Amino acid sequence: MVDKISEARRSWNMSRIRSHDTGPEIFVRKLVYALGYRFRLSAVDLPGKPDLVFRRRHAVIFIHGCFWHQHAACVDGSRPSSNSQYWEPKLRSNIERDLRVKAALVAAGWRVLVVWECETKKPEQLIPRVRDFLEARK
Ligand SMILES: [Zn+2]
Repeated sequence: MVDKISEARRSWNMSRIRSHDTGPEIFVRKLVYALGYRFRLSAVDLPGKPDLVFRRRHAVIFIHGCFWHQHAACVDGSRPSSNSQYWEPKLRSNIERDLRVKAALVAAGWRVLVVWECETKKPEQLIPRVRDFLEARK
């Protein structure tokens, strides 16, 4: 099946690939700050350079684009039907890198939360998820 619907969305996604300080990142940052939590940005000393780092809580948050990080069961996470020879290895290596990064962080005692781009469109659901994560103690 050709995914015409997501074509426009995808080109929008493409335009943000690897751009820093994307809309979803800024949104999550502001939201978490508004909830009263303080954090550091893009800790280069940690695997995968997590977007938000809560050192005292041993917690990190990644904000992931649904396409680039292949959000499962998400319309924006579907593989492009065209040019798959180009996309397949790229997207697969992203998924594998995400898994490696998470494993390395967990092994080092960090708790990891991934906030997907599409979740930033539903803050009423995202807020309790972020709060539960940050308040949880291992
Ligand atoms: Zn998604």
